[in-house]
Amino acid sequence: MQLSFWEKDRFFTGIDVLVVGSGIVGLNAALGLKKKAPSLHVAVIERGILPSGASTRNAGFACFGSCTELIDDLKTNSENDVFALVERRYRGLKRLRENLGDEAIRFEGNGGYEVFDEEPAYAECLDHIADFNRHMKAITGAGETYRRADEDISRFGFSGVNHLILNTAEGQIDTGRMMDALIEKVSRSGVKIINGLGINSFSQESGKVVVHTDQDFSISCRRLLICTNGFARQLLPDYDVEPARAQVLITKPIPGLRVQGTFHYQKGYYYFRNVGERLLFGGGRNMDFANEKTTDMSLNPLIQDRLEHLLSGMILPGVNYEIEQRWSGIMGVGSRKSSIVQPVQENVFCAVRMGGMGVAIGSLVGEDAAEMVIKSV
Ligand SMILES: Cc1cc2nc3c(=O)[nH]c(=O)nc-3n(C[C@H](O)[C@H](O)[C@H](O)COP(=O)(O)OP(=O)(O)OC[C@H]3O[C@@H](n4cnc5c(N)ncnc54)[C@H](O)[C@@H]3O)c2cc1C
Repeated sequence: MQLSFWEKDRFFTGIDVLVVGSGIVGLNAALGLKKKAPSLHVAVIERGILPSGASTRNAGFACFGSCTELIDDLKTNSENDVFALVERRYRGLKRLRENLGDEAIRFEGNGGYEVFDEEPAYAECLDHIADFNRHMKAITGAGETYRRADEDISRFGFSGVNHLILNTAEGQIDTGRMMDALIEKVSRSGVKIINGLGINSFSQESGKVVVHTDQDFSISCRRLLICTNGFARQLLPDYDVEPARAQVLITKPIPGLRVQGTFHYQKGYYYFRNVGERLLFGGGRNMDFANEKTTDMSLNPLIQDRLEHLLSGMILPGVNYEIEQRWSGIMGVGSRKSSIVQPVQENVFCAVRMGGMGVAIGSLVGEDAAEMVIKSV
């Protein structure tokens, strides 16, 4: 389709910064740009009719690390690096809540539990709890972030669960409302968000970046910021970012649902929570890493079956429920558990690779990306 004069003039001319991707990172970057430099003409281009990667498809955990996740991270990273990331996740969640407000994102601080059905993993966590709490005190000021919580097992009605460790500072949000509030805030700040337009490639022409779309037109901008996370390799083929698909299901409302809060199982590879009276359950990527390395959003029957098996056997034993919906989302992962926020080439920048932490760190990563771009303008 050719653009009309009016369309071109009003929506695609004079763009100072073009952000690709309207996930939590792209939107926070756009917001950061307008906050710091209100006169900049900022536009966000999104391929989907809605943000279509991870930000509207995740589990909505406001989490910064379960004990087994931290123990795992300590195997390949220094203690300093591990707790610097924990602090960033913790601070990022605070920023998300400040930016949008707890009411708008339906933040609930119900605590987050780690679920154990094996003694060795639990015993290893107990060995680390005092140390983790010492580190957490420096970050949150709270005395006992992680604590044993076996007494809650019967309250939740689990089967085959031997131990629980509670993270008292963890919470949950309503992912849909969070993204709705963010889109509204970004739009109100004067940023144009254009949906249903994909970027195929970009090139440099006479000091401008020319962005080639999947329609019959290109867009010129002074700066380009790529926030496409799990899809990054389309535009950044050499970058250490791979797609990692994640499977999710949700039940119909279960009157009197006993499971309340967020729950991690098997180093966080499985996660479940209540959404009102529904149970949301996701994960299992470790069962089929090879097939989940994809940007295709289809369902994986092997993993969905495993989720169902754990749901009926461990999480909701003896409970009548029906599964209402299943979906998948695409994360961006790499050899390191950290985001990439850096210049790509002249006037082109990126902020990608959020792993399974983008709800937590996305607000700060977006702000950092905005700062980086503004320094170059
Ligand atoms: C099932 C699941 C559960 C998760 N649970 C949690 C959780 O509980 N807590 C947590 O902190 N994190 C969680 N995450 C991770 C978190 O959702 C992501 O890290 C975060 O949303 C990434 O945000 P983003 O903006 O970087 O990427 P995305 O939200 O993926 O946004 C990238 C956008 O770019 C668009 N795009 C891609 N290519 C192009 C192109 N060429 N042209 C135009 N647009 C393009 C895509 O359509 C997409 O909308 C989960 C992720 C998944 C999938």
